[in-house]
Amino acid sequence: MKENFDAIVIGGGIIGCAIAYELSKKSYKVGCIEKNQKTGSGSTSNSCAIIRTHYSTLDGAAMAKSNYPFWENWRDYLNAPNNEILAKYKEVGCFFTCFEKNQYGQKLEEIALEIGIPYEVLTPAKMKKLLPIINPGHFYPAKALTDKNFGEKNGNLRYVLHFPKAGYISDPMFATQNIENAAKRVGAKFFLGTKVIEIHKNNNQVTGVSTDKGDLFSAPIIINASGPHSFKINEMAEATKDMTISTKALRVEVAHVPSPKNFNFEENGYICSDDDIGGYWRPEVGNKILVGSHDPECDEIEWVDPDNYNAEPTNQVRVQAMRAAQRFPSLEIPNNVQGIADLYDVSDDWIPIYDKSSIEGFYMAIGSSGNQFKNAPVAGKMMAELIEYVSKGNNHDEDPLIFKLPNLDYNLDLSFFSRKRKINKESSFSVVG
Ligand SMILES: Cc1cc2nc3c(=O)[nH]c(=O)nc-3n(C[C@H](O)[C@H](O)[C@H](O)COP(=O)(O)OP(=O)(O)OC[C@H]3O[C@@H](n4cnc5c(N)ncnc54)[C@H](O)[C@@H]3O)c2cc1C
Repeated sequence: MKENFDAIVIGGGIIGCAIAYELSKKSYKVGCIEKNQKTGSGSTSNSCAIIRTHYSTLDGAAMAKSNYPFWENWRDYLNAPNNEILAKYKEVGCFFTCFEKNQYGQKLEEIALEIGIPYEVLTPAKMKKLLPIINPGHFYPAKALTDKNFGEKNGNLRYVLHFPKAGYISDPMFATQNIENAAKRVGAKFFLGTKVIEIHKNNNQVTGVSTDKGDLFSAPIIINASGPHSFKINEMAEATKDMTISTKALRVEVAHVPSPKNFNFEENGYICSDDDIGGYWRPEVGNKILVGSHDPECDEIEWVDPDNYNAEPTNQVRVQAMRAAQRFPSLEIPNNVQGIADLYDVSDDWIPIYDKSSIEGFYMAIGSSGNQFKNAPVAGKMMAELIEYVSKGNNHDEDPLIFKLPNLDYNLDLSFFSRKRKINKESSFSVVG
């Protein structure tokens, strides 16, 4: 098949679909190419899809806050007809455990005050009132199960921050397919089960791609939204030369454990960024708790080849479940702990790259570092505006686009997401972003 497009998006995850949607709304003829049979079936499918507004950087938090109303008003964002069934956002609120090592969350409070993110400070007593099954113990640092001090408590947390504006999507793949449908309504085309195997160029300008099905799609604009394969697609385009920030695939696991008996965690539970136990947790349908990791120092870090890694959970899910049992002593851990294994596309400072490249017409929306599901709606808008800005002849590297964030009085200087930035030392260097 041969077809000409204005823009080709490589990858039909939530980021690629959101970009395809926004470019199509701007009347670009867009082709989105996804190697799997369904959109959202890459790393997006196993996302915990937590929507929160706390980030370690002001720009990161502003971006997340800007996205929040799109999740609250999902149908409006998609401009979906009333009879289309859509993914549902569930707001439950999020805790952030505060202790000396994270300066008692002081930076998050300062950011929240600066851009008006609602929050409150909860003492252990107040926390227990909201979530009676919680143990407010202070366990930091996270330990291996073999450590004789595992589970030992060092007093109580002084307090936690509670961000009421936070929640989750229980089916991130379905949410992505909602965006695919929205993009199709405004003209985007999707090629599923189709893998990009070559990127064509002429005089340092992209001209199109070839696929494993023998298609030749031409376009002057190509966007790398390939998630954990991002570094492979960048290498294919030979676009890495001037990058100071690189991306690589990190294998992670998430445990799915039943809620303690006699407690409805699905209805009455909270989300928590719980660095005090080295992880995070959230309610899940079926009265379960999902337990992810903050990759504490005592755990092995697994950088992998995204085309060759163990996609089955290992004993690591038990480790994470046991850490959660410190917080919930009545948690019953099954013999066979269920869970998933998947990949983050991690940048050197755990902040994404939303940028152009040294190759004319080649863009990247990569390095989502385990924390960009929530940011997909605005990432799509931002990339579309960036592409317009560069296409008009602006030099984004020297005169970066200042993007007015939707739903917020905030101008985001996109050099924050540059491929050529210095490592951002304000980052948490973890999935918190
Ligand atoms: C376990 C886990 C938990 C997470 N929890 C959260 C959370 O709670 N909140 C949050 O905000 N974020 C979370 N994230 C991060 C979030 O899910 C990701 O940032 C987001 O889904 C990335 O979307 P993407 O479209 O960039 O990548 P993907 O969904 O991986 O999409 C990229 C697509 O590109 C395709 N592709 C690759 N190579 C090619 C090729 N050559 N040709 C064609 N197609 C190709 C892949 O098949 C894939 O579908 C989590 C991630 C994981 C793994």
